[in-house]
Amino acid sequence: MSLSQRIQHTLEQRRTASLYRSTRSFEMAQQPQRLLNGKPILTFCSNDYLGLANHPAVIQAFQQASNQYGVGSGAAHLVSGHTRLHQALEEALAAFTGRKRALLFSTGYMANLGVVTALLDRHDTVFEDKLNHASLIDAGSLCGAKRVRYPHNDVAQLAKRLAQTETGEKLIVSDGVFSMDGDVAPMRNLAQLAHQYNAWLMIDDAHGLGVLGKNGAGVVEVEDLTQQDVPVLMGTLGKALGTAGAFVAGSQDLIEYLIQTARPYIYTTGQPPAIAAASLASLKLVQTEAWRRDYLQQLIQRFRHGAQQLGLALTDSTTPIQPIILGSSEAALQASRQLEQKGILVTAIRPPTVPANTARLRVTLSAAHTEQELDQLLSALAQLAY
Ligand SMILES: *Cc1c(COP(=O)(O)O)cnc(C)c1O
Repeated sequence: MSLSQRIQHTLEQRRTASLYRSTRSFEMAQQPQRLLNGKPILTFCSNDYLGLANHPAVIQAFQQASNQYGVGSGAAHLVSGHTRLHQALEEALAAFTGRKRALLFSTGYMANLGVVTALLDRHDTVFEDKLNHASLIDAGSLCGAKRVRYPHNDVAQLAKRLAQTETGEKLIVSDGVFSMDGDVAPMRNLAQLAHQYNAWLMIDDAHGLGVLGKNGAGVVEVEDLTQQDVPVLMGTLGKALGTAGAFVAGSQDLIEYLIQTARPYIYTTGQPPAIAAASLASLKLVQTEAWRRDYLQQLIQRFRHGAQQLGLALTDSTTPIQPIILGSSEAALQASRQLEQKGILVTAIRPPTVPANTARLRVTLSAAHTEQELDQLLSALAQLAY
């Protein structure tokens, strides 16, 4: 098959299997009520969990910094792209997460590739939860280490596999909050196993940061896990913080090592300084406005209660990620289309993003939603014809 035949064949296959994906162009800022193709639509599918992506203080910080620093950073961090704003953000993130240091990456995907490939080589073993985010799975293949994928949150299986691994270094890698299911990793057990088997533990808390913990510092705050318990903590800024980019937090030596060796850190342009300024402003809101987390939890309870009354198949997620598992890609797509006809947008998540036969509507809630908007979603779900 030639390359152009391969392209045609794949596109055709995706279409017939209800797996074809395409972008939509929105006409407004990231917020619940938006315009899509000129029509109003109420959305339940962003990761802007605290409603900060369009917050006036965050916008103002961005504007002021771009007046002062321009737009592009112009170079990689190690060349001339690192500003005082980046530095201040790294220091603030380290303090926020209770780690010695933090290092900014331009995206979370790159942070994950950077860390795992810098830490491991072919003599080592990486242990990954089966439902880890794609960027962690890719990082695991790219680093060349032996890979063990353990069943989702199955600490007994993980322990068994750790015990069987005698040579090389070991790194356990897990999402903190699983991106498509919304459940939380067994953090204490993972930390305990890492300790017992002399392994390192890396947690990707893209969906926990800002949302979980009294101060919003994520899954490590909930379980009070120190830098020693979780030596590699990764977080992203494009979700609850409402901006863009990511960071890795850990010891002084870990961060210095990553600066020297993590290729996705070294060989890429630094984020615009104004993004760092916006992230600093939003981090402040995360820390000072705990009501956003409290209100979000109320919405989660209200949604789960309403959905249970409708007899919908919820997972046991306690986070703003509330999937409704429908099974076939066809069913998920159909449900999503029906909701869209009612002016509500919830994306259908299909394989390969999730395992076969677990296609779902992935409802995500935000502190920017009103209770009324949530009730609108519930009544639209009640009218779905499966
Ligand atoms: C979104 C996400 C990433 C990627 O972060 P980006 O900054 O969007 O590249 C990594 N890990 C998890 C678990 C995510 O949900």
